[in-house]
Amino acid sequence: MITTHSEEETAAVGHDLASSLKAGDVVLLYGDLGAGKTALVRGLAEGLGVDRDEVSSPTFTLVQEYRGGRLTLFHVDLYRLDDPREIDDLGLDEIAEAGVLVIEWAEKVPDIARLKPSRYNSVRIQHGDGDERTIEITN
Ligand code: ADP
Ligand code: MG
Repeated sequence: MITTHSEEETAAVGHDLASSLKAGDVVLLYGDLGAGKTALVRGLAEGLGVDRDEVSSPTFTLVQEYRGGRLTLFHVDLYRLDDPREIDDLGLDEIAEAGVLVIEWAEKVPDIARLKPSRYNSVRIQHGDGDERTIEITN
């Protein structure tokens, strides 16, 4: 369990996590709106050598692809997903093979077990008081 006190500290946790990632790895992110999931993805991108400014919260696209790093990073944000059947159309299992797949709102994937490759990490971010967040990473 890690406690952070700023967006930067949370990004640094993502940065550290990046060094352990290999092609085909999946990172499942859980946490409320504003918990810091995207902040962590920014650090993760930077850790892979991707320009962190490319990372945003996509409004209309469910999948964003960032190239130029050690591994291609596929960033999925399911916040706006209403129909779980749409997930099938994304082809997440194939995406996962091509690089690192990170999923915000992973709880919206109905059949996560099917998607899980041999290596995945679950990251749970919880709000504390003010800017405090607790981050739990399991793999
Ligand atoms: P999410 O993707 O989980 O909805 P974001 O990363 O987009 O969350 O936003 C997190 C917000 O919380 C940002 O405005 C950030 O500045 C703020 N914040 C405050 N403290 C922290 C912290 N310890 N870690 C991450 N974000 C924090
Ligand atoms: Mg987000």
